[in-house]
Amino acid sequence: MHPLVKPALRRGWRDLNTVQFGMTPAHAMTLGPMDTATGSFLDLLNGTRGLALLREEARRMDLPDGHVDALVERLSRAGLVDDARGGGPPAQALREKQEVLERLRPDLASLSLITPEPGGAIGRLAARRALRVRVQGAGRVGVTLAALLSGAGVGEVDVRDVGRVQPWDVAPGGLTTEAIGERRDEAARRVVRRAAPDRPPRRPDPSAQEPGLALVIIAPRDDVLVHAPDARAAEPLMASGTPHLYTGVVEGTGVVGPLVLPGGTGCARCLHEHRTDRDPAWPRLIAQWRSGQARRVGACDLTLAAAVAGLAAAHALAFLDGESPAGAGVRWEASVPVLHWHARPVWPHPACPCGAAEKAEREHSSTNGDPHATMVVQRPSAERREHADAARPTGTWRAHV
Ligand SMILES: [Zn+2]
Repeated sequence: MHPLVKPALRRGWRDLNTVQFGMTPAHAMTLGPMDTATGSFLDLLNGTRGLALLREEARRMDLPDGHVDALVERLSRAGLVDDARGGGPPAQALREKQEVLERLRPDLASLSLITPEPGGAIGRLAARRALRVRVQGAGRVGVTLAALLSGAGVGEVDVRDVGRVQPWDVAPGGLTTEAIGERRDEAARRVVRRAAPDRPPRRPDPSAQEPGLALVIIAPRDDVLVHAPDARAAEPLMASGTPHLYTGVVEGTGVVGPLVLPGGTGCARCLHEHRTDRDPAWPRLIAQWRSGQARRVGACDLTLAAAVAGLAAAHALAFLDGESPAGAGVRWEASVPVLHWHARPVWPHPACPCGAAEKAEREHSSTNGDPHATMVVQRPSAERREHADAARPTGTWRAHV
């Protein structure tokens, strides 16, 4: 263990014996009482010294025996300390790639804010390198999204689409003007390669079966498919149990979600069945929209496309990193001009063969509670936020060190 007080959090003294770590309510914490000697000792926790050396330094500073271990233990418990050597062999392999790590340093610092255990952040970053993700759709949203995932360290990001790059596919962070006229999939893959901080990791045995897809992102250029995801096209993903995330822009609205965990959360067909229940005209409208001739260039605000790509990539990364899937069972939507995001639930539907409704029902009967309480659904309700705040009031955590 080479303790490192998380550099992502700025430190400041609130008074003579209370230290605040972090500035913003999301991650700020206070620690106290803390004497000045211990406070200056924090500067030594910078990842360059192991515990033995730190104990020696503490003796030199006349700090009592056991003080260092107690301090590190308490900082660790508060999620404020990282381990500059932790994270296991994949993390060590990543540390040895100095240039790659330099590229990813802000991402690593950000991950350190949500991984309480020492060494957890680089462990997650290293784990991304072994993942395979596919993005279906190489328009303004799909290519930027794929580049974001690649740039954030996902080892293999494949983009699928047909046709050739059109002038209106070009977007900052996505396809460039030089790509106009090229095959969309090839041009998109080039963007992904350029965004990557590293070459994709070599598989130990090239003849071995490639690892399964951790996630498929469906980002159609066709606005009807964004508004009404095609359940039939997702059947192979449902059958193989592959998690998939829908996203895109339709008219002036950006959509992120649902993230479908097959058999566990509401899928494209669940969404269709619920819409049909609510609006008897829905199937008729959908049939007309789908049969409309491939037409004009659809609306797609550049800033909306960027925001959608960013949010979809964030949800994808959170899922890939093992966070609770924020987008499961939820469709986030925002409309031009000011993009206020709001969430619409996508409940499992009993008529859908995906099995999510039965699963929810089983869990309901086993817990005998609220049918929605056990589902993997996160709604951004005020109630939920209040609950989270109640669990750890902002900046009020205190420890005696
Ligand atoms: Zn379903």
